[in-house]
Amino acid sequence: MARVDNPPELRARVIALRQGGMTTEAIAKRVGKSRDAVVGICWRAGLRGPQRQAPRPAYRLEFPAAGGCQWIDGDPRQAGARFCGLPVVAGAAWCAGHRARVWAAWCDELQ
Ligand SMILES: [Zn+2]
Repeated sequence: MARVDNPPELRARVIALRQGGMTTEAIAKRVGKSRDAVVGICWRAGLRGPQRQAPRPAYRLEFPAAGGCQWIDGDPRQAGARFCGLPVVAGAAWCAGHRARVWAAWCDELQ
């Protein structure tokens, strides 16, 4: 099977949703990708474990409204974490500041 590269924005979005406790199936529907693609992204990000046992935080992260930045401030497994929620850059999952941080981290990873 050919390896399909996923853009960093998709990867980070999938990882954020997964860390927020969403199942891979729900994430696949939300981002419009196959469940296999979502599982692959989670796997490569080190988020392993049984698919049906998503981490269940004692509280629920409130997802931002459509168009809200999906950067998570804090540890998503701990109470007090929240999504940034600022308006996103067109076509991105984050606001300008967080988008720059994600891209910078991704570029470091490639080196
Ligand atoms: Zn943000």
